[in-house]
Amino acid sequence: MRREPGFPWSFACRRSGNCCSIPGGFVRVTNVEATAIARGLGIELAAFYSRYVQGDGQTLKEGLGHRCVFLQDGREAGCTIYESRPQKCRDWPFWPEARTDAKLRELMLRTCPGIAPDAVGPAGC
Ligand code: SF4
Repeated sequence: MRREPGFPWSFACRRSGNCCSIPGGFVRVTNVEATAIARGLGIELAAFYSRYVQGDGQTLKEGLGHRCVFLQDGREAGCTIYESRPQKCRDWPFWPEARTDAKLRELMLRTCPGIAPDAVGPAGC
């Protein structure tokens, strides 16, 4: 169970894969991250960009149904590049912008069964 200051929840991954298949979501990858992933896959960096990165040069391609191209489905979903996954993926659901964006927090709560919201008692408790 993980907890970070400033977030109204704790988190323990339940391997739903939901955070890796959010419609309209995207996974940005920096050049440093791309280099690490390519090394982990045992392919050249140029081949990595060609196979796995969209034309914008910074967003991973999607597989079926908005799934990240590296998401492996099954009884428990898994990331096939887990050891070298991008920082944004490592940080879920403790994204700094979620501290101030109520709509994003609501989306995250709806998306992820591993997020346990803090109990809020009646005012004054
Ligand atoms: S890189 Fe891995 S952790 Fe990140 S969205 Fe894709 S499957 Fe999920």
